[in-house]
Amino acid sequence: MKSNMAHSISIQSRFRGCLLGLAVGDGLGGRFEGMDRHWIAKRYRTPQQLIENPPTTTLSYTDDTQMMIGVAEALYEDKEIIEKTLCQKFVVNYVPSRGYGRGARRVIEAMEDNKDYHAVACSYFPGGSYGNGAAMRVAPVGLFFLNNLESVSSQAYLSALPTHTHQQGIEGAQILAVAIAIACSMNEWNKSLFYDKLIPHCQSPEFNKQIEKARRITCVEDLIMLGNAITAIESVPTAIASFSLNPHSFTKAVGHVILIGGDTDTIAAMTGALSGAFLGIDAIPQNLLKSIENEGKGRDYIDGLAKNLADMYQST
Ligand SMILES: [Mg+2]
Repeated sequence: MKSNMAHSISIQSRFRGCLLGLAVGDGLGGRFEGMDRHWIAKRYRTPQQLIENPPTTTLSYTDDTQMMIGVAEALYEDKEIIEKTLCQKFVVNYVPSRGYGRGARRVIEAMEDNKDYHAVACSYFPGGSYGNGAAMRVAPVGLFFLNNLESVSSQAYLSALPTHTHQQGIEGAQILAVAIAIACSMNEWNKSLFYDKLIPHCQSPEFNKQIEKARRITCVEDLIMLGNAITAIESVPTAIASFSLNPHSFTKAVGHVILIGGDTDTIAAMTGALSGAFLGIDAIPQNLLKSIENEGKGRDYIDGLAKNLADMYQST
């Protein structure tokens, strides 16, 4: 897709592209979670090979998409992040076998049992979790508040709090949400503008340094320098960099982060959300879109949520 075509992409297409792009990245990346990049590279030499020959006919999503659905549902209900509603959604949707980390399971089970989940979160992760669990689910916040980046950041903060109290865990969610909002509102790709708008939302010197590094990367071979781990600081900048290196190709943006291994489901989910928000639903390869699981809260349900959020965004 050429950059001058982007202006014709509707808000609805971008919201759908973002949430379904996240599910596609999560489902495809989930098949490679924790694998070594050299092992993956032996099987798939290019993103195109990976996307055209996925290792599965059904893309089952993991905790990333399941928790994103909760954030979208909570936003649709309240038009803002209200912690009580958000926790209720996390509990109702919770299927532990979706790949939740041990800490996240304890926190959600404490919500379920009406226990002090904040205390559980703090005791399980001394100082709070600095993982990417808040960033992986934040996409609907970036979409719904896209016309006010300050609101995106403050609402992303609220959406992180039930499970994340460490500055880096929260900041990762805020930066990703702001990046999604910028991508969703850009008509033509402009890398300088994208980073000029994003960087002021970095609060810590650590994130500032990593996002500046993401901006300077000029080839996909260097993506691994930003990390492929479960920490927010070693995954959010990687997703942002892969998107900004491949702004016109969902296949390349998402494929390249899977090829570097590590926390592939979450990094591909975040990248898919960014790419879908900029390029819209039609940029997601049809074979992948069709293969997202569709029972219960599957593809059609996520699509419906995206459409509802877009309608609500446009009417307020
Ligand atoms: Mg996951």
